Amino acid sequence: MHELISTILSQRTTHNDEEAAYYSLRELGDWDAIIEAPTEAVAHAIRRSNYPESKAPRIQETLRRIKAAPGGYDLEFLREMPIKEALKWLTDLPGVGVKTASLVLLFNFARPVFPVDTHVHRINTRVGTIPKMGEQAAHRALLALLPPDPPFLFELHKNLLKHGQQVCQWTRPKCGVCVLRERCDAYAIYGDRVPSFGEK
Ligand code: SF4
Repeated sequence: MHELISTILSQRTTHNDEEAAYYSLRELGDWDAIIEAPTEAVAHAIRRSNYPESKAPRIQETLRRIKAAPGGYDLEFLREMPIKEALKWLTDLPGVGVKTASLVLLFNFARPVFPVDTHVHRINTRVGTIPKMGEQAAHRALLALLPPDPPFLFELHKNLLKHGQQVCQWTRPKCGVCVLRERCDAYAIYGDRVPSFGEK
């Protein structure tokens, strides 16, 4: 539950603000209390997260639906549910897209899925592992190339995230120090002048 709600709060929000919003939300009480709180109070509690007015009703509706599910607030059933069904169950919740669902399933239940965030998407597009496509389609395309090995997928996701934050940044990637340089399509074309992501 923590991971799921935190991930909704993390959308277009820094890690520090996401955490602050989560703990402020939990000050409203248990999950039942958050469902029953006025939506404005929930939006106020999560104001450190971006778009609190749209996230607040989604979080409340998500909690309502989870409460009504067979396990209540215990999501343990996702560990055994067939992977396609688990993804569908999660992405049917308001505010939960395929990235959030994949993060929850890989990080919490060690399921063989691969979350594609902005860093994973950008690096793989530049390197040429996948052609230009949206993040949603990239989930399917990358997963088809990777072994169904949750510890490997977890490490790869973490390392790509770090690489995207520190080296292959959105603008002015540091190709001169990049270990992927010799395998990178963008570097082969542009050398040290790889354009900002999305410009070409
Ligand atoms: Fe990114 Fe440059 Fe490395 Fe390619 S060589 S992955 S564009 S930092």
